[in-house]
Amino acid sequence: MIVVMKKGATEAEVEALTAAVAEWGLKAHVSPGTEVTVIGLIGDAARDHEATLALMPGVDKVLPVLKPYKRVSTEFHPEKTVIKIPPARHGDRGLSIGGTGVVVMAGPCAVESREMILSLGAFLKGAGAHMMRGGAFKPRTSPYAFQGLGVEGLRYLAEERAVVGLPVITEVMDPRDVEMVGEFADIIQVGARNMQNFNLLKAVGRCGKPVMLKRGLANTLEELLMSAEYVVSAGNPEVILCERGIRTFEKFTRNTLDLSAVPVLKRESHLPVVVDPSHGVGQWDLVAPMAKAAVAAGADGLIIEVHPDPAQAVSDGAQSLTPKRFKELLGALELVARAVGRNLH
Ligand code: PEP
Ligand code: MN
Repeated sequence: MIVVMKKGATEAEVEALTAAVAEWGLKAHVSPGTEVTVIGLIGDAARDHEATLALMPGVDKVLPVLKPYKRVSTEFHPEKTVIKIPPARHGDRGLSIGGTGVVVMAGPCAVESREMILSLGAFLKGAGAHMMRGGAFKPRTSPYAFQGLGVEGLRYLAEERAVVGLPVITEVMDPRDVEMVGEFADIIQVGARNMQNFNLLKAVGRCGKPVMLKRGLANTLEELLMSAEYVVSAGNPEVILCERGIRTFEKFTRNTLDLSAVPVLKRESHLPVVVDPSHGVGQWDLVAPMAKAAVAAGADGLIIEVHPDPAQAVSDGAQSLTPKRFKELLGALELVARAVGRNLH
């Protein structure tokens, strides 16, 4: 249920209402807007509660929530979520995801070596990237393919953050690893294949780090929002939604990057939306046009695979940009961002 307060309703009226609903065992989420205050209620409300609320002082109307997702919905929580990433090093600037700036995360599919992470990190920072990506735990289709460096890879990422200064996003696959990965990562990534691993969602919901949730290969946007609802309802409000392409009958691209997901998710939810054009298309030459289109469509960020030598990459070389091409892309993205009233920080 959603309670919309009257214009000019007092704080005391809002407090009286939240105290009353707490007695009924409901949780209240108060969104003080510039015009009116909106209060979202979670829990099983009885029918007579609705009537009682409607009669309380300061209440304008009581509305049912029609969507299955609540905490992540715009209906329930009209103000945008802006996620703050603290500075990697003393003296660096922190980042905001979901504000006017478009955040660019870049790096290899997999962490391959210390040297790679430190030198590529330095290049990416110089080129203007805001965060470094790199998988230490890799969800591979084949059990015989490289599975990632594990904790050793996380250590290289942490060293990059300390020395070079780019905050880190990296994937977690196992609920038992969440706490440990959270010690190394600034954002924890839940990969497409784990979007409906509900135990993992609950585990990342209990960790104190922002979570980027990637859309599953065959999942609807409503299912993505319901997965985000798991994380938020477990106690972690800092969720980023990521469109990374879905399976369709089309064969020219690895997946079909559903860019309409961006305006849909931004209409339905207050959470920031990031686009991954690399996994979306699967070929490096298609990454730049789709990255630009994503920014034009309103994405709050991009996550792009970059490899120092894509031909030698242990995974996803075909879709990885060379450092030089990545730098050129950033220049073009700045112009697109400005055209839609954003910037690249
Ligand atoms: C990745 O980011 O390298 C990855 C495995 O992505 P996804 O889960 O979207 O396939
Ligand atoms: Mn990859």
